Amino acid sequence: STADIGVVGLAVMGSNLARNFARHGFTVAVYNRTYAKTEEMMSAHGDEGNFVPSQELSDFVASLARPRKAMIMVQAGKATDAVIDQLAELMEPGDMIIDGGNAHFDNTRRREAALRERGLHFVGTGVSGGEEGALLGPAIMPGGSAESYESLGPILEAIAAKAPDGTPCCTRLGPDGAGHFVKMVHNGIEYSDMQLIGEAYDLLRRGAGIEPAELSKLFGEWNAGELDSYLIEVTAEVLGHTDAATGKPFVDVVLDRAGQKGTGRWTVQNALDLGVPVTGIAEATFARALSSGVKQREGTVDLLTGPTEKTELPETFVEDVRQALYASKIVAYAQGFDQIAAASAEYDWGIDLGACSALWRAGCIIRAGFLDKITTAWRENPELPSLLAAPEFTKIVTDAQSAWRRVVSTAALAGIPTPGFSSALAYYDGLRSRRLPAAVIQGQRDFFGSHTYKRVDREGTFHTDWSGDRTEHEM
Ligand code: NDP
Repeated sequence: STADIGVVGLAVMGSNLARNFARHGFTVAVYNRTYAKTEEMMSAHGDEGNFVPSQELSDFVASLARPRKAMIMVQAGKATDAVIDQLAELMEPGDMIIDGGNAHFDNTRRREAALRERGLHFVGTGVSGGEEGALLGPAIMPGGSAESYESLGPILEAIAAKAPDGTPCCTRLGPDGAGHFVKMVHNGIEYSDMQLIGEAYDLLRRGAGIEPAELSKLFGEWNAGELDSYLIEVTAEVLGHTDAATGKPFVDVVLDRAGQKGTGRWTVQNALDLGVPVTGIAEATFARALSSGVKQREGTVDLLTGPTEKTELPETFVEDVRQALYASKIVAYAQGFDQIAAASAEYDWGIDLGACSALWRAGCIIRAGFLDKITTAWRENPELPSLLAAPEFTKIVTDAQSAWRRVVSTAALAGIPTPGFSSALAYYDGLRSRRLPAAVIQGQRDFFGSHTYKRVDREGTFHTDWSGDRTEHEM
């Protein structure tokens, strides 16, 4: 029993994480249900460090130093449950099972409670950064007991990405489901960010007629400024790529139907339960659904007409789009943090939003230069009612609002859909409105359902006798 940590599941993520552990000097036990995959990994990478391969799970468990640490990287869902059951049978109190797959936080809560009964620690961990991140340094979002983190934390921190200031992008976020929850919202923000970038592309391509190669350069320039982020960088690469078969821009030969594995949907479902308006994430998730809603698109594309007049673009259009993108991105992150704060209160997780933003600074898909600013904002005032209330962010969004309005109105006139930009601006305007039309809604609710209302000028709950003489009664 010499291995510091073990990895179960040696598909792309598991094998890369195992190699990452080994490259950092840890002895890594490795196991895969189909042994051929273990052999394959050993022959290709066995010389990169100290691996202890096992053909049987019992040997794998026996090879782990105590307290044992087994990290599962298998398909989320039934496979994860099956592997947890097998491991739990072989482990002893104090040992740890770490699930690095994309599990739903509710499953993580259930698994953690069941294993705790048996004296085992269960650490549900978000891992972001894709294959490359797993090998070279992912952002790691662990949940679980503080006790488990004492010995597990240093190992995870060693292989995690490092932020520009050198701190590892791995922090214990809270008990049970906290880590997988934060990973879920991370993915929701990722959906939102990708949709916004897509809209910026559409506005500049369809609206302003700028070709992909030129746009690739523009995104590259944006990436050197305040929009500096992995997703902008990736977009520049994608737009600059030419299809080898046809010589056309890659984006012109790819079917415009966005896929999804479900984490965006989970984020929105949970936001509805918590009552948190994550409008950007919701719009982004629905925009993917609309793009792949073939029946509805094909059945209406020739029926519905667009603007009849050519839309004049403002001279500042390109810069306007950049500013609208920046402001809308900030809204996306602000909404995501609201959801994390709400869940943390609901489930008693005690998540530190500053620590959460700090660990997204490198390794993960939503890493961005401005996460430094977000981290500072939460650290200076963890009680901020919204990220948009932090002085620096208030200034950025208010400075951008004219450009933002020009972009959204131009898009509407030109008939280019911008659900992300538009909903972000509507959210901004919703927050800054002293009076919302919700008073009318309260009137309607009271009218047809006697749902009562409150008054601006007096304490108490009231109902108007709408079907009678319309007198008001205090309830
Ligand atoms: P897959 O999700 O494709 O899972 C394949 C692995 O699961 C194989 O090792 C397979 O073993 C194993 N497996 C499947 N069913 C069982 C079972 N019943 N019992 C035991 N083992 C089983 O692998 P990935 O590497 O793509 O992802 C691993 C996890 O990481 C997933 O939960 C994924 O959501 C998550 N993730 C993936 C990212 C990515 O970029 N791909 C990013 C972040 C997280 P066998 O070889 O025997 O079939």
